Amino acid sequence: MQPMMLITGGSRGIGAATARLAAARGYRVCISYRRRRDQAQAVVAELRSAGAEAWAVQADVGCEAEVQNLFAELDRLPGELRVLVNNAGILESQARLEQIDAARLERVLRTNVIGSFLCAREAVLRMSTRHGGRGGAIVNLSSGAARLGAPNEYVDYAASKGAIDSMTIGLAKEVADEGIRVNGVRPGLIYTEIHADGGEPGRVDRLKGAVPMQRGGRPEEVAEAVLWLASDAAAYTTGSFIEVTGGR
Ligand code: NDP
Repeated sequence: MQPMMLITGGSRGIGAATARLAAARGYRVCISYRRRRDQAQAVVAELRSAGAEAWAVQADVGCEAEVQNLFAELDRLPGELRVLVNNAGILESQARLEQIDAARLERVLRTNVIGSFLCAREAVLRMSTRHGGRGGAIVNLSSGAARLGAPNEYVDYAASKGAIDSMTIGLAKEVADEGIRVNGVRPGLIYTEIHADGGEPGRVDRLKGAVPMQRGGRPEEVAEAVLWLASDAAAYTTGSFIEVTGGR
């Protein structure tokens, strides 16, 4: 039976690219999305027309009830969950730390940190041999910002990705002998719509001169790292990170 991969935030950007590559590699694919139903359905239609089995489920990953509903929907689909890609993530307008209020911190941390924790919990409950599962892999989307700190842009976002790194390391050790590997991918400057949310759609082109490779990255280049970490080729790799940053 084909394994199931759940990709949160698969309606566009890195999540959609990961969904396309996963389908091409023989996974059943379930993507979740927050608001853009049409885009999520378009990704699903594209995957199905290429011969894959694919579904889309609306769920705000920061809402515990919606995450539980997402996984309940997943339980009703054919195929056993073997991979969770914690991809859904947000950032807000570029700002200095003294301009960041508690409401913004709660929004960013809720989606990026709480969302990843809740989805990881539900995946562990299904994949861990401790709970009767047959093992699997979790791949968390961190960011080069976890190392760089994103000064004058979004230190809150960078800190949320630092939390993802700590969760990756700790959870990897917790479930290492229960058949689950947990790893992270740290993308650098990737051409997606997330930069428009920060108020600068052209951010990658402005900053690409600071990238040793002198270019921004493509979502497909990040997807390759995610798929490798998810695969049996990475069978002895857990608690690790792949930088997809062009050397930055
Ligand atoms: P995009 O903004 O292009 O897409 C974000 C995706 O996440 C969309 O599918 C969106 O759904 C979904 N999403 C956002 N919030 C929620 C939520 N609360 N619940 C469920 N789904 C949600 O982002 P990218 O593809 O650029 O980023 C993907 C991941 O990679 C993120 O974690 C990001 O932090 C990380 N990353 C990206 C980098 C980059 O340069 N692009 C660099 C480093 C890390 P909808 O379409 O419905 O809004």
